[in-house]
Amino acid sequence: MTSRQAARLLIIGPQGSGKGTQGVRIAELLKIPAVSTGDVFRANVKDGTELGLQVQAIIEAGDLVPDELTSAIVRDRLAQADAASGFLLDGYPRNLGQVGDLDGFLEGRGEQLTAVIELSVPRDESIRRLSLRAAEQGRSDDNAESIAKRLAIYESETAPILDVYRSRGIVDSVDGVGSLDEVFERVVSALAARGITA
Ligand code: AMP
Repeated sequence: MTSRQAARLLIIGPQGSGKGTQGVRIAELLKIPAVSTGDVFRANVKDGTELGLQVQAIIEAGDLVPDELTSAIVRDRLAQADAASGFLLDGYPRNLGQVGDLDGFLEGRGEQLTAVIELSVPRDESIRRLSLRAAEQGRSDDNAESIAKRLAIYESETAPILDVYRSRGIVDSVDGVGSLDEVFERVVSALAARGITA
């Protein structure tokens, strides 16, 4: 039998893979906070905060916000009491520098990630879903140019971090094509196999 593991999770996948939706459901099931850097940035842009003003043009262009700024936000969020016994990260880390930053914060508390869920979705399916989302939600970064840039950055900067986590034996690749419930069940089973359960 697998012994019960703390849920310190990362959900990763290309834009349009459904990771935001699945991440929130998994976090609710496991009663841990879902920490999405994209959501933090969007909320700040909406509220017109200083951070929002700093990052708005970067996000609209589909570029990455500088690591220093992003990692400081995550470090502060993970230091809050509700993240003490577990958390689910969505959209961070997104490049190798951020992996090093996250390792640093977690080492400081004697912890490491316990599972990384990769949602795999073919590129044409991601693009189809992003175009649908653009029509439904009107996200300012869901325009053709920004979508192409974000997918290219995913392949060049974000996908390589999976190799690091694979070498630690903590990656589960889950097929992200199917209904929300089907994909959710696949993620729940992958986590259960590691002893991460509600
Ligand atoms: P997302 O909702 O995760 O697709 O993020 C939306 C946008 O926020 C990205 O295209 C980036 O501009 C920015 N962003 C989110 N997370 C990060 C991160 N970890 N590092 C740098 N930029 C980020």
